[in-house]
Amino acid sequence: MPESSDVIIVGGGAAGCSVAYHLALAGVKSTVIEGQGVATQASGFSAGGLNPLQGTGIPGPLGPLAMESYLMHLDLFGQLQDDTGIDYDGRIISLLKVAFDDEDLADLQETEDVFAPVDGFDARWLDTREVLELEPRVSPKIIRGLVARGNAAMDSYKYTLALLRSAEKMGASIRSGTVAGLERDNSRITGVRLNDETISCGQIVLAMGPWSRKAEAWLDAYIPVDPLKGEITRMELPGAPLNHDLSGGGGSLHPKPDGLVWCGTTEEWRGFDKETSTSAYQSILEGAVRLVPEMSKARLSLQTACLRPVTPDWLPIIGRVPGWDNVYLATGAGKKGILLSPGIGKSVADLMTQGETSLSIGPFNPSRFTPNGF
Ligand SMILES: Cc1cc2nc3c(=O)[nH]c(=O)nc-3n(C[C@H](O)[C@H](O)[C@H](O)COP(=O)(O)OP(=O)(O)OC[C@H]3O[C@@H](n4cnc5c(N)ncnc54)[C@H](O)[C@@H]3O)c2cc1C
Repeated sequence: MPESSDVIIVGGGAAGCSVAYHLALAGVKSTVIEGQGVATQASGFSAGGLNPLQGTGIPGPLGPLAMESYLMHLDLFGQLQDDTGIDYDGRIISLLKVAFDDEDLADLQETEDVFAPVDGFDARWLDTREVLELEPRVSPKIIRGLVARGNAAMDSYKYTLALLRSAEKMGASIRSGTVAGLERDNSRITGVRLNDETISCGQIVLAMGPWSRKAEAWLDAYIPVDPLKGEITRMELPGAPLNHDLSGGGGSLHPKPDGLVWCGTTEEWRGFDKETSTSAYQSILEGAVRLVPEMSKARLSLQTACLRPVTPDWLPIIGRVPGWDNVYLATGAGKKGILLSPGIGKSVADLMTQGETSLSIGPFNPSRFTPNGF
């Protein structure tokens, strides 16, 4: 007898696992089908930064969902750890931005403008002496700094596992396998095809990250998600630890609870290439050394490369696929997929169980894209 599931979720990254978690909270059992391993793609190798105030589309159409998701993350930090025992290092951080010349000051000013007015966030200008008091290893060539507090950070690999673990405790299940096609009956999908079997379902969520375009042929739909490669180096910096996330002069350094300093990231359109490269290592190192000269003595512990799922307008795709009664998309979150994952997961679960959501997903409807543009 063929297997069946109320809901099938294709993709075990942060998006898919968050949908499974929020469906489980609503009492709906789902099966997550994952082809390469849960959290083995971008969701497992992101920088784990949660900045709801800046980024493409923020301030702008993504701002409201970014803040809603950020606030959900703060609640999840305790809840998921209590529920699963997985500590994914969720925490509020301080970001120290520095300027090497007058041109850099515009970026610091922009950060002050967006941080200072928001409850729970603040930003303060520093002169060179104050910056070096806070972070003595920063280059003395800087001219000013701004310390901004309120962003959060986490280990996105453990977070994604915690979402799935909690969902499983509430009845969700996980299957390994690559979905190769869908079974249809008029405007409904009735099942998914794995290599040697079919699993039937009542509803389906496609959370396939950078691989989302594969579903275009299955649904005769337009799902323009492309892979944007990103590399990070994890470095061992001898001596006193850094106390802040640091950025400026082309460098970006994130000290992590495990003692390593994560540096990066790069952005390259290179199709589905996931190989790490010497050129990325060198460009990351150059920025890091300009910011903290002693990074030249740091030892490379690990270099990772993975793919962000990016749409033409850099906004996610969330909602029911036009023309289909029971097919939903949870994808395209680009450089903000960890931040947005609670909003994506809950809104898709709301749409599936109640037909509507109070979350701010209006601009992200799949119907905004057509083969002729958007
Ligand atoms: C270097 C880097 C740094 C980043 N830093 C941050 C950050 O600081 N903050 C932030 O918010 N975001 C960050 N991001 C972005 C974030 O990592 C992504 O937006 C997010 O992980 C996307 O999650 P996802 O679940 O949509 O995709 P993925 O994590 O790619 O998961 C999709 C899953 O679907 C599976 N799949 C696809 N097709 C099939 C199929 N046919 N059958 C079965 N399984 C399938 C894949 O195997 C994969 O596991 C970063 C990304 C990179 C690359």
